[in-house]
Parts: sequence; C-alpha cells; structure tokens
Amino acid sequence: MLKVLPAGISNLIAAGEVVQRPSSVVKELIENSVDAGADTISVIIEDAGRTSIQVIDNGCGMTPDEAVLCFERHATSKISNAEDLNSIHTYGFRGEALPSIAAVAEVVLRSRKRGDDTGYEVTLAGSELISKEEVATPEGTNISVRNLFYKIPARRKFLKSDNAEFRHIITEFVRVALCRYDLNLRLVHNRKDIYNLKRVNNIKQRILEIEGREMIKELVDIGISSSIVTVSGFIGHPEDARKSSGNQYFFVNGRFFKSPYFHKAIMKGYDKLIPDGTYPSYYLFFETNPENVDVNIHPAKTEVKFENESEMFEILTALVKESLGKNSFVPTIDFNHDTLPEIHIPKDYTPILPTLKSSPAYSIPKPFQSAKSDNFEFNFEAEQKNRSDSEFDSKYNIASAVDGYGEIFESKETIDENTLVLSNKYIVTAVRSGMMLINIFRAKERIFYEKYLYNLDNSQPIAQQVLFPQTIELSPARYSLLMESPERLHSLGFDISTVGENTISVNGMPEGLETDEKSIIEIIDNLIVTFEECQSDFLTKAHGRDNMARSLAKSTARSGDKRLSRNQARVLVDSLFCCAEPELSPSGKKIMEIITDEEIEKRL
Ligand code: ADP
Ligand code: MG
Repeated sequence: MLKVLPAGISNLIAAGEVVQRPSSVVKELIENSVDAGADTISVIIEDAGRTSIQVIDNGCGMTPDEAVLCFERHATSKISNAEDLNSIHTYGFRGEALPSIAAVAEVVLRSRKRGDDTGYEVTLAGSELISKEEVATPEGTNISVRNLFYKIPARRKFLKSDNAEFRHIITEFVRVALCRYDLNLRLVHNRKDIYNLKRVNNIKQRILEIEGREMIKELVDIGISSSIVTVSGFIGHPEDARKSSGNQYFFVNGRFFKSPYFHKAIMKGYDKLIPDGTYPSYYLFFETNPENVDVNIHPAKTEVKFENESEMFEILTALVKESLGKNSFVPTIDFNHDTLPEIHIPKDYTPILPTLKSSPAYSIPKPFQSAKSDNFEFNFEAEQKNRSDSEFDSKYNIASAVDGYGEIFESKETIDENTLVLSNKYIVTAVRSGMMLINIFRAKERIFYEKYLYNLDNSQPIAQQVLFPQTIELSPARYSLLMESPERLHSLGFDISTVGENTISVNGMPEGLETDEKSIIEIIDNLIVTFEECQSDFLTKAHGRDNMARSLAKSTARSGDKRLSRNQARVLVDSLFCCAEPELSPSGKKIMEIITDEEIEKRL
C-alpha cells in the first residue's frame, strides 16, 4: 500500500540529515541570523546544547505570518527561481533547517519585524504547533530550542560527552566568527562567557582573539588576485606548526569549507619548513564568482566543488611558498636530521659525566627500581663504580629479559668512550660480542611509556616542578579539552593550573621532559592531541590508561628534536635498561639490535 508520509514523519527523516547534534542546530541558527542582516548575535547554550540552545539576533525579524511559515518545509525567503541558485550569497536557501529542528525538539520563536510595533511568539514541539500569540519583544529574532532529540532517545544516547559536544559548538561558532569579524558575537555556556567578540576592523584581530595569543606567535599576511580567484588571509609561522589540527580554515565567499586537496597545496608550500606530522595554521578567504563554485550542496556538508581546482592548487602552493620566502624563515630551521653529519669523535674528547641523580633528562622512574628489589636505593655513581655485570644482571633481571644485552654494562669508561650518536636516530655502543644499535625514538617511547603508566597507576605521581612556570593562553576549545579532567592531568604527572580565562600555568611536568618554553608548548599540544584521541573512560578502564600512556609516550618521544649529546645518550641507555621491557617499544617494535663481531668480520 502506497502512502504519503505525514508531515511529522517526513520532517523527522529530513531532520536526521540536518540535525546531527546540538552543534548542527547552532550552525543553522547562527547562519539564519547572519542572513537576516544582524550585526549582533548571542548564542546561549546550556549543557552543551542538550538542555537548551538559544540564539538572539537584531536582524530583520519576521512578520507573524512568516514566523509560522518558516517552520514549513521548503519555506525560504532566500530563493525564488532557478537562476537564484547560481548566485547564492546567503547561507541557507533550502528552507529545511527550521522544520527539521522543530521536528526533533521544543522550539519557541519570538520575532519582531524591523519597524513593527509588536512581535509574535510561536511555540512548537515535535513539528506540532502548540501556540501562537502576540508578544512584546525587541526587533529581531529570538529562538530557543529545548530538549533536543527528546522524542528520539537513541539519538540522545548517541551524543558524546558534554565537553565533546560543546567543542563541536565552538567549532561552528568560530567558523562564523572568523569570516564575519564585522559582527558582535557572543557565546555563553552554562552562564559563562566563552567568547564575547566585539566587531573589529580586520580579520587578524579576530584570529588573535579567538586562538589565544600564545599559540599563534606570528601570522604571515598573504594575498593574491588572479582572474579565477582572489585569495586573502593569514598563514602561521612555520615554528607555530602544531600536531593538533584545527586551525586550518578555508572560506569561499564567506562560507567555511573543507578541502583536503587545497590543504595539500598549502602543505606543499610549507614543504620542509615544518616537521612531519605537524600542521601550520591558516585562514584563507577565497572570493570567486559564485558560478565557479558548486553551492548546490547539502546544508550540513562542508564540501565545495570548484571549477578550476587544479589551477587554484598551483596558485595556493606558489602563494604560500612566496609568502614564507619573503619572510625568510627558511634558513633558521632544519628538521631534516638525516642531512646532518653526525659522527665526529674528537680525539681529545673528555666526557663530562652527568651526575645521574640530578640529571633532568630520562631519569628513571622510581617504581621500576623498587619493583626489582624492595629495599633498593638506586645510586648511580656507586652503582657504576661497584657493579659487576652479573650483579647488575641479577639485580635488574636483564639477562633473562633481554638475552645478552646485560653485557653492555661494562666499566664506565668503556661505555662512555664507545657510545656515539648516529644521525640523531641511533645510539651505537660497543658491547662484548660486537656492536649494539639502539633506536633512540623507540627507546624514549619505552621509557616515557613506562613512566606515564607508572604515574597513572600510582596515586601520587611525581610532577617535577618547572623552574619558570609557563603561562599559555589557549583557545577555549583547546582549553576545555585540556582542563576537562584535572584528575587526568594530575594522574599523568602534570601540574597545570588555571590562571585566567582560558589561560593555564604549567607548573610541573613528568620528570625527563624538556622544560623550555617551546618544548612546553609542544608538550601541551601533544596532551591535547592525545586527549582528543583517547576521549572517553580512561580513568575507569585499564586499556584506556594504556592507550593514553602509549599515545602520550609516542608524542613526547618525538618532541624536543634537540640532538642528543653522548652523555644524554648514555643516560638514555641506562634508563632504558631499567625499564620493565627494554627490548621492545610499546607498540612491539624492536628497540635494539646487536651486530656481532663475526658479522662484522664477515664484511671486512
Ligand atoms: P533557509 O535558511 O534555508 O531559508 P530555514 O529553515 O533556516 O531555511 O529558515 C527559513 C526562513 O525563515 C528563512 O528563509 C528566513 O526567511 C526565515 N528566518 C529564519 N531565521 C530567521 C532569523 N533569525 N531572522 C529572520 N528571518 C529568519
Ligand atoms: Mg537557514
């Protein structure tokens, strides 16, 4: 039997596409306000949008008729004929958003047309009109969406944590805020101001206000005008490139869009100026004839199709290259260690032995020492003077854990003289049976992994106080992610406090991490990336903690791309052999390899 679906149900189906989560509602409502010509828009959220989303604007408003009609499907004031589709300058044009929202929530709309004496209030729930009446309300529109998905528990359950949902809201808000810096925009969450952005004259001011001044040190002005496209905006200094993505923005004719293809073009422009796995920030605004852009896309999607994509790719790469070249960042940074000549052993080299007890780098996590022997106090100097291989082996159980590797601990002198760092990637050290190679990155990963794991499992993790606590202003999104759970930070061995709005002070970090400003910023970035990856339940589930330790170890091991001195290399080796599992990286890769004398003899 063929039936026409009742409006309620068809709206519900359409709603599924438009309204995926609270942030979709926020996006649609802000865009409507912008389209209505408002210059002041307030977004007021409760419980990440679960309880309430309210958007208030001073735009053109609606007449009583319009206030009712706007909830009908395909009711739009923005398009009336097919040609209009090619020259769309507004956000919405399908007339789908309001009916979709009204299908899955309770909505109260108050609006007063500019110039009218009174306003009108319309209340709906689940697509049904509950009431309509004249009310006193300021010019403009005030729409409140409550109890989102109240009729669809499955959908409600699907929502992520409040923090995650709120971050999506911030994302949508920021996208509009970046391209409409001429508007006053306010975002309030649970009665707290998250952003209160006053209109400014240029995009740069807006960017700085949004992203936090510490994270973006320098923005490079870029711009070009060609026959197919005009591009303007800013790109980040190569040194500000971060592992966390999120500061990459493309807008076309005032609309945010995603483009992995253009992203590649930008990355190509940065070429070797930034380390692998990091992203520069960029804010690029394209102006092009609307006919060159396919706007007939779904309102909830952010892909855009351009006519001259490959030309634009070339233009972008060239533009980025040129702008960076002009600012001559090029010679100051070299991330490519492979090209650095590394093996130089001056004849008169006298190593300054680090006193291991106070050495900051790679010191050994206490638990692993005591795990080996109950009343064992580790004293490196004494240890180095006194120990014999067999004593050491039995104490650390190394021989059994790592067949043969215990042998590396010969006398102190041999270790120092026969240890060198190769390409900043490997430690080469002479052992009795030949030559041992240690993969530095994997070794660090192992050491940090065990350190983090220990911290996580220990109620009193050791945060080493940093000499000069570092103050960092983060963007609200990054701030909320980082500070979401102070307990989590604490249990990883970080001592971080809030000292101002979205501003933190890094007072302490796990032992062994670099503590200069650049490294601290990098480590905070790593934490944020890690928290993004391991969102949920880490405190309750063992594998959550393991993932966290693993992923943080990986990023920490990678950060601080300073070259290892020989002494540090030796400390690293020592620390490695105090680990519970020194032979394998946390992901199971081999950390070390011995090339035996026989093998060497075979070769020469
Ligand atoms: P679309 O934006 O695609 O036209 P919507 O469902 O989002 O569809 O909105 C329907 C119509 O309601 C709009 O075309 C506009 O006429 C009107 N409208 C919605 N929000 C506002 C607002 N904040 N101020 C004035 N008019 C609005
Ligand atoms: Mg709309």
